[in-house]
Amino acid sequence: MPERRDSTRTAWHALSGDATLEKLEASRDGLSATQAASRLAEFGPNRLQQERARPWWRRLLTQFDNLLMLILIVAALASLGLGHALDAAAIIGVVLIIALIGFIQEGKAEHALESIRDMLSPQAKVLRDGKRQVVPAADLVPGDVVLVESGDRVPADLRLLEAKRLRTEEAALTGESTPVDKSIDPAAEDAELGDRTGMAYAGTLVVQGAARGLVVATGEATELGRISEMLRQVDKLRTPLLQQLDRAGRVLALCILAAAAFTALFGVLVHDEPVTAMFMAAVGLAVAAIPEGLPAIVTIGLALGVQAMARRNAIIRRLPAVETLGSISTIFTDKTGTLTRNEMTALAIWLPEGEVRISGVGFSPEGRFHTVRGDEPEPHALDPDECHALRHFLEVGVLCNDAELVRDDGRWIIHGDPTEGALVVAAAKAGLDATTLRNDHDRHDAIPFESERQYMATLHEEKGERRLLVKGAPDRLLEMCHRVRTDSGDVDLDREAWEARIHALSARGLRVLALAEKPIHDIAELTDAHAEEGLILLGLIGLLDPPREEAIEAVKQCLSAGIRPVMVTGDHAVTALAIARQLGFAHTERALTGREVEAMSDEALEACILEVDVFARAAPEHKLRLVRAMQAHGGICAMTGDGVNDGPALKRADVGVAMGIQGTEAAKEAAEMVLADDNFATIVGAIREGRKVYDNIRKTITFLLPTNGGQGLAIMLAVLAGGELPVTPLQALWVNMVVAVTLGLALAFEAGERNLMQRAPRDPNAALLDLFLLWRVLFVSILLLISVFGIFWWIGERQGGSLEMARAGAVNMLVTGSAAYLINSRFLLGSTLSLHGLFGSRPVWLAIGLVMALQLGWTYLPFMQLIFGSAALGLDHWLAILAGGMAIYLAVELEKWVLRLRASSREPTTARRTEDVHEHAGTQR
Ligand code: ADP
Ligand code: MG
Repeated sequence: MPERRDSTRTAWHALSGDATLEKLEASRDGLSATQAASRLAEFGPNRLQQERARPWWRRLLTQFDNLLMLILIVAALASLGLGHALDAAAIIGVVLIIALIGFIQEGKAEHALESIRDMLSPQAKVLRDGKRQVVPAADLVPGDVVLVESGDRVPADLRLLEAKRLRTEEAALTGESTPVDKSIDPAAEDAELGDRTGMAYAGTLVVQGAARGLVVATGEATELGRISEMLRQVDKLRTPLLQQLDRAGRVLALCILAAAAFTALFGVLVHDEPVTAMFMAAVGLAVAAIPEGLPAIVTIGLALGVQAMARRNAIIRRLPAVETLGSISTIFTDKTGTLTRNEMTALAIWLPEGEVRISGVGFSPEGRFHTVRGDEPEPHALDPDECHALRHFLEVGVLCNDAELVRDDGRWIIHGDPTEGALVVAAAKAGLDATTLRNDHDRHDAIPFESERQYMATLHEEKGERRLLVKGAPDRLLEMCHRVRTDSGDVDLDREAWEARIHALSARGLRVLALAEKPIHDIAELTDAHAEEGLILLGLIGLLDPPREEAIEAVKQCLSAGIRPVMVTGDHAVTALAIARQLGFAHTERALTGREVEAMSDEALEACILEVDVFARAAPEHKLRLVRAMQAHGGICAMTGDGVNDGPALKRADVGVAMGIQGTEAAKEAAEMVLADDNFATIVGAIREGRKVYDNIRKTITFLLPTNGGQGLAIMLAVLAGGELPVTPLQALWVNMVVAVTLGLALAFEAGERNLMQRAPRDPNAALLDLFLLWRVLFVSILLLISVFGIFWWIGERQGGSLEMARAGAVNMLVTGSAAYLINSRFLLGSTLSLHGLFGSRPVWLAIGLVMALQLGWTYLPFMQLIFGSAALGLDHWLAILAGGMAIYLAVELEKWVLRLRASSREPTTARRTEDVHEHAGTQR
């Protein structure tokens, strides 16, 4: 066993690679699985102690940290002082119930978010049992050999054994954001963290190159672990929407307090009421009118949305993104793998002698080669063994390549980049085995493919001769070549002819790569300069990458939802346009290339960005400019990305979207949302969900506020008129906290209306509480007010019932009216007068059933009667109350009908866009 974490920490950075291996009893080929398991038991998981989200008691305490709670506690103390012990006890009881409800709901929401964060836990590439494996980073142990490459977060503290052009950004540790060069050399024993070039530390980011390193410390023992208190902040539940609500809530609370004070003073001065009674009335008014259940319900609604998105492969990293998603108007998306399937098949090869076609689809290495000549209608079968140029071309394609073709459970799959995989498959169809070839041609060095560079280069040696092989984007490679390899020797490059061939292949929607080589002498390490000139072109290869079926459907949805998809790809403009056409993009006549974008001023780009849907040969820095230009038009943008350098564009976009499979750790960290399936359709699904969540929150608010309004107005009117209160403060609390919250929560489960994706995106600046909403709240408040007073008066005055009975009638009227209005609230403007509208939602009826059971208990159970001052009601009372509820329901439906009529007569074409006007029913799943 290697030494345990000792107090005197080993200066790994000062040891050589071999000394480190020896000290950790490890080898360059990695540990065995059993070794790894026993070390894991010894050293524990490679994880930093998570700061607990929030201890439960803190969460409980924060429930008391708001204005209503304060008012209530003051009211309880005052009631106690005034001799109303029972009231005081009851108010405290209700305070505790409120705190408990908030506590449980927030706990659920936090838990939901936490489990989603776990879905994003990082992975590491490690050598175990001599094989390359991907394991959760938490399973790493000292002695493991780990592979890292550009875009990765270093998973543990590593002593580097091999490093190729490795640069890491160590800001997480040193605060220094300029990347530092790494090598395998040991450093002085007293070197500062930033100068230890032979080490790569956990939490730092690989921004360039690749390396192999030995794990020397994991978890808390890493340098990061030692300073980890500074990091790991927990995402808060506060989102802009919640903040907006908070602010509105505070203003509302102050207004209500003022109204309460005024009402109490009026009672004392004008009606000569006793001060204590008026004080209690003021308290009642305040607690009745403040909608304190609201924030908890909204939080739950957001958390439900996040969960629903995660179930459909869209993992939200930052909660505010849920709201922003609903107002997205442009999606900038990658092409390869996102809009297309990323299942590349090589279909055609252009050699100087002519075109060769390859049959067979998918990764299965079965297929034949044919030649096509312009003057012959029938293709000729071609034996690859007979055609030297073809064999050579395929060999180079396999050597300058990191992908592997393996058989897994009878299926052929690719490890690595599918683009490269397609070349391995093509070679296998000609009987060339990648492993043998690669063993025969030692690779001495490599420059990996990167989107900015657009090519990959490798340096090989065979029988003492060194050759540089390059594969990459054909237009880029033509610039680097000056000659062409033919059967009869190397000849000058006919650029125009080759450009025509590139165009011909691209126009078929194929992704085109070119291969080239040159003999090279006396070079140990490759630089870009070596690769970029004097190459000899070997030929072109065209890969088919068909669009995803679901992407075609998703593009359609986008267009009807007023969202514009824009393709940003590294591929050739002609290929990109061909694919855009197959996908049904709106503008497919014109593509701009990265170079053209570069040559444009910001103003020029802004001027044309609304007309161009395809950006080709684009690099990450262009993405940033595209987002800026679109935002200058007021657009709300989503931007996808996978590379390290996509970070700035992802951050700048309103919703940055990272690829979960192809994406680097760096891109995921910069993003607000991660796609577990790299699929464009998932973004559109998340937008739909985002719209739904926002809708449901609006519905919840429109539903909840009238209950408060109705009660507040009832108490106020009663005092101003000098009569008895129809609802006592305690009763109001009961209604607000228990009944309204239970009912309101049902709306968070609404499935979203059918026209969700037929309206234009929401204007992000539009107020949440707009005029329509305020009108609806006022209208229903008044309906509730009338019915509550009606029942109160009928039981108390006409029937001579006791005050308790009259109040019990009033409260039950309030609850029944709210329950009826809950059904109205399923659709803000659409009619609910249909089977689906009335009975389509199980949560709504569950909530109504639950609340009715609660109300029966409240009305008839002796201890409830004692606490809340309620009294039993007769059948006639209930019938009257039910009639009142039905009347309210019908009145609101009538109001919706009038509003719909007005909207459609005013703006027949755009009415659809603003609200759910023509839509009657939602889709329930
Ligand atoms: P995309 O946005 O389609 O993923 P990339 O930036 O990955 O675009 O690729 C741009 C171009 O670079 C491709 O059209 C292709 O010609 C070339 N290319 C892609 N992958 C590789 C690779 N692994 N090696 C060499 N060239 C590549
Ligand atoms: Mg790519």
